Amino acid sequence: MKSLSLSTPMQDLFMVGKTYAQRLKKLDIKTVEDLLCHYPFRYDDFRRISPISQLQPGEKTTIQGEILACQNLYTLHGKKIQKAIIQDESGRIEAIWFNQSFIPKTLKPGLKVSLSGKVDVYNYKPTFVSPEYEIITSQPTTIHTGRLVPIYPETYGVSSKWLRSRILPLIKKILPQLKDWLPQNIKTQEKLVSLPQALQEIHFPQNETETNQARERLKFDELFLIQLKTTLRRRKWQKNKISHALSVNQEKILDFISSLPFELTLCQKKAIKEILGNLTKKRPMNRLLEGDVGSGKTVVATCAMYATFLNAFQSSLMAPTEILAYQHFQTVKALLEPFGAKISLLTASKKLTTESLPLEDHDIFIGTHALIYNKVRLSNLGLVVIDEQHRFGVEQRAKLIKKGKAPHILTMTATPIPRTIALTLYGDLDLSCLDEMPKGRKQIKTWVVPWHKRNAAYEWIKKQIKKEKSQAFIVCPLIEQSEKESMKNIKAATVEFEHLSQQVFPQLKLDLLHGRIKSSKKDNILADFKNKKIDVLVSTPVVEVGLDIPSATIMMIEGADRFGLAQLHQLRGRVGRSAQQSYCLLFTSQKDKENLKRLKAMEQNYSGFKLAEIDLKLRGPGEIYGTQQHGFSQLKIASYTDIKLIEKTRLWANKIVTKFNQFPLLKQRLKKYTIKDIEAN
Ligand code: ADP
Ligand code: MG
Repeated sequence: MKSLSLSTPMQDLFMVGKTYAQRLKKLDIKTVEDLLCHYPFRYDDFRRISPISQLQPGEKTTIQGEILACQNLYTLHGKKIQKAIIQDESGRIEAIWFNQSFIPKTLKPGLKVSLSGKVDVYNYKPTFVSPEYEIITSQPTTIHTGRLVPIYPETYGVSSKWLRSRILPLIKKILPQLKDWLPQNIKTQEKLVSLPQALQEIHFPQNETETNQARERLKFDELFLIQLKTTLRRRKWQKNKISHALSVNQEKILDFISSLPFELTLCQKKAIKEILGNLTKKRPMNRLLEGDVGSGKTVVATCAMYATFLNAFQSSLMAPTEILAYQHFQTVKALLEPFGAKISLLTASKKLTTESLPLEDHDIFIGTHALIYNKVRLSNLGLVVIDEQHRFGVEQRAKLIKKGKAPHILTMTATPIPRTIALTLYGDLDLSCLDEMPKGRKQIKTWVVPWHKRNAAYEWIKKQIKKEKSQAFIVCPLIEQSEKESMKNIKAATVEFEHLSQQVFPQLKLDLLHGRIKSSKKDNILADFKNKKIDVLVSTPVVEVGLDIPSATIMMIEGADRFGLAQLHQLRGRVGRSAQQSYCLLFTSQKDKENLKRLKAMEQNYSGFKLAEIDLKLRGPGEIYGTQQHGFSQLKIASYTDIKLIEKTRLWANKIVTKFNQFPLLKQRLKKYTIKDIEAN
């Protein structure tokens, strides 16, 4: 075999081979290093070794003794079981397994064995049922029994036992040659154990102290590496020179603000102050403006574009779709034309809407991302606003830098990124947050409907539709998490649609919407819904986010437990777009307290940002959005809720980053470290 290293691929390992290498990919394990970093999520405590004569039914424990006999037997019902008799100095006990006919070949009479598991009553006697077993050899310790036994995330065909047996020899071979890349002074000050020790102890700890100190070290590593990456990116960004230095004319800005038809919310004012603060600096701004749909991000961005205009520089506003670009154009034009700014919309039909002026004479360009990149001479831009609407990525920014010069950049998103995640993954961005809605918005009354009130809820919907002329969305449960609309989701929605049209709302007009309906037909359905030719629109969970049907006031969501809170909040946002009171009804068949408590959060919270924070605490980051496509990188061992450690690692990253060259091992380690969400540039 070739020499073993961290980067050795799994299929080259002794006792792995192609089949297992394939299975391991499901666990994201491709190399020796991945396997070593596949950490247990818990341990079975089988440390106590009991004399056989003292075993009590119900006890979870370990026995060690000699095999007296072991054979395959058939039960009365014709099932194959394996039975062994084990003896120690104090007595004998039987152990049985089901359907593991190879066991008698392993557990031969005369061998010394160690068994861990639960004592049960079988055929009226205390018996070990399906215990973990291993033969005691000259090896210093057991790994599957008689200790803290690591339990790993498993996948089809890959058990914890299999993983343990493969990890143990790796630890023996690799750890002695493994170099610890974490600078010594950090280890000393933070009282962290060495990397080899941490890996040894996370997989095969002697006691809880060892598991704890191993976890501390590995959690630190994970967050520290992410923080280093983002810190490096921040520094790289800050090395860019600002394309155009700006000054802020307070008086004129205040005039603009008082010209608005509404009073800005406190958080809007704060965001504007933070942005203007950046604009006067010599370093280009790189700020994220986060806020729910309708929280008023556009006016904040417009204020920044106005400040840029006052300096006689151009700005551009990039939207993800043509429709949004057009909306922005209307808004910005109404707000800034009175102040003399020339605004133009770049459309795919290659015309500027404010015709005939040469590009240089425009102050603000609005268009889709692609158009702006292709058409606008970036060197004239003082500010670029990127509206990402419902997604958030980082890939855009690199394109905006020309020869080390960059405009100020403001990115807007309606994706609620909890502060601790932003601090970790997007630590290179400054963050402004609109977590309060403008006054006067009617809150969407939200109820988690208990199962026995389902029929009453249907009756209520009927009444609302007949009396108030309202319309309803009914969103079907998410059967399968997948990026595209899955067949299972469509099928569930179709079945539900038929049931609703025939049994529940026979007098109403219903239609069905899902991702596989042709877009021309989809447009027709939406137009019919808008024109009130449809009362109830049944849809899969993946209906377009942008839907705007002001006359729809009821949002009913089936299988609400399957969604992340932020996702429910987004669905809820489809209603409540008119002066009429709107409602959101959440249905769930899960009756456990935790689930109800989580869903109840929807009744009291109306900020996507707060709901995302709540979900992060209750369920972890993968669950915030439900589908992976919006999800943030799962951390392996650390947690986005561990604010103290996040801050600590951030401080260290800031300290180390200036002396980076003194730590070649760290540099090497960082090079290999990739994080999906922040690797784009
Ligand atoms: P989003 O954050 O989703 O981009 P918009 O900027 O489109 O939200 O704002 C939604 C609506 O709220 C717009 O009609 C805007 O004029 C209005 N609006 C923004 N700020 C306020 C405010 N402080 N008070 C009242 N209405 C506001
Ligand atoms: Mg917007």
